Amino acid sequence: MFNATTYQLFINGRWRAGSDATTLPVINPATEQVFGSVAAASASDLDEALASAERSRRSWSSRPAKERAEILVAGARILAAKVGDAAKDLSREQGKTIAEATGEYGRAVETLEWNATHAEELSAPVPAGPNRILVPEALGVVAAFTPWNYPAVLIARKLGPALAAGCPVILKGAEETPSAAVHFVEALRQAGIPDGVVNLVFGLPVQVSRHLLNSSIVKVLTFTGSTEVGKQLAKLAANNLQRCILELGGHSPVVVCEDADLAKAIPAITEYKFECAGQSCNAPSRILVAGTLYEEFLSGMIEAARKIKIGPPDEPATQMGPMANGRRIEAMQRLVKDAVERGARVETGGTRLDQPGFYWPPTIITRVPNDAKVLHDEPFGPILTVAPFDTIEEAIREANSTEYGLAAYLFTAAADAKQALIRGLSAGALSVNYLKGVSADAPYGGVKQSGYGYEGGEQGFRSFQSLKLVNGFASFG
Ligand code: NAD
Repeated sequence: MFNATTYQLFINGRWRAGSDATTLPVINPATEQVFGSVAAASASDLDEALASAERSRRSWSSRPAKERAEILVAGARILAAKVGDAAKDLSREQGKTIAEATGEYGRAVETLEWNATHAEELSAPVPAGPNRILVPEALGVVAAFTPWNYPAVLIARKLGPALAAGCPVILKGAEETPSAAVHFVEALRQAGIPDGVVNLVFGLPVQVSRHLLNSSIVKVLTFTGSTEVGKQLAKLAANNLQRCILELGGHSPVVVCEDADLAKAIPAITEYKFECAGQSCNAPSRILVAGTLYEEFLSGMIEAARKIKIGPPDEPATQMGPMANGRRIEAMQRLVKDAVERGARVETGGTRLDQPGFYWPPTIITRVPNDAKVLHDEPFGPILTVAPFDTIEEAIREANSTEYGLAAYLFTAAADAKQALIRGLSAGALSVNYLKGVSADAPYGGVKQSGYGYEGGEQGFRSFQSLKLVNGFASFG
């Protein structure tokens, strides 16, 4: 039975403990106290999940897309009805504010609905020239690995299209933030998803991923997390040639040109950067400002960062909660120490708050030398570097100077600067004069070390299909 603070596995349509009763602790990052536990799957639990997913595969993929969609829409409505409680659970285990958690669940519901709504159309044959069609087919069992920063919406971005396309899923939720996966799967169970079509496991990530990807039952790997782990998973997936969708790290630049409207740019950057305490793969982390605006921008940005109210995520006045875990605090400390040792200047923030909880204040660093780690390693936290530039070419060169290529942002009204930046910036997604991340209806994917494949929109849906080319056949019933 589903229990609020003892999170269980969901295998073959049933909630249950792990077969060897192993559990992992769940911690409240605002207090550092353990408040619950999550079941860890054993090898035999994983085998059971694989077998039940495989048993359900044919009936789920051959079920009319309209019927699959009806179950997903019902699941989305059930999830929407419990957002109030689910957001509180997410906030308690992740540290984001209740408002942020509520917004995230809203996007998760919307994503599930978008994929359900488009299931029929995207499962239909596609004309591919004279007397030729493409017949979409579900690829088969999906192993989905989701992280702790946006556990609700990232599950929706994987399960929404996979299930709508006709693929059963084995989801490994994030052990730090299990409630989102549990609420999501429970909503689908209540909506009548057949046994085996969705299985939820938790456990030791290395063991779980190795076990699942070693199985030839799994046909697709979808993962969001660090570049390092993404590469390890891609290597495992190579053995069975599983299709990979990898949404990995980012180190996103914002280019603020000399004609930028700072009254719009600074609040937009502040709001987007410090959401979820900066733990977002597409959060901006390096700001490049035209030299003529540098001093004005920097003082405005420092003032905005200092005004952010940090505190317990369940207090209505709080604008930024704690970081999700102690590993992030250690990472912030390492990056700041390294930058300062190399001569950088901390303009605001820079040290952990002296209180229980993983609290790290908005931090702005300037005069950062090129070899500092903070300019190359994904910060994944509330740290921003700010640097001036003289020419657009220099801004593009600096913006592209990391191995990542996920998101980039620019502020300018000038058509020639826009053109040059849109063409020149290496990123999977660009936003002009505002900051926007993912949405249900648009494809999103990285370049360079930020991964490959797409989530969202038609391309995200088709990630879970093969397209069978049929020659000599003009139409298909
Ligand atoms: P991590 O790389 O160990 O873990 C990130 C996520 O991947 C976690 O949810 C974890 O459970 C999962 N994971 C780790 N090893 C795995 C494996 N072998 N198989 C399957 N899943 C695995 O690091 P972390 O300390 O939890 O997070 C820090 C780094 O992770 C950040 O610096 C950031 O780069 C990255 N991260 C990225 C995103 C994103 O949205 N792209 C989300 C979370 C974390």
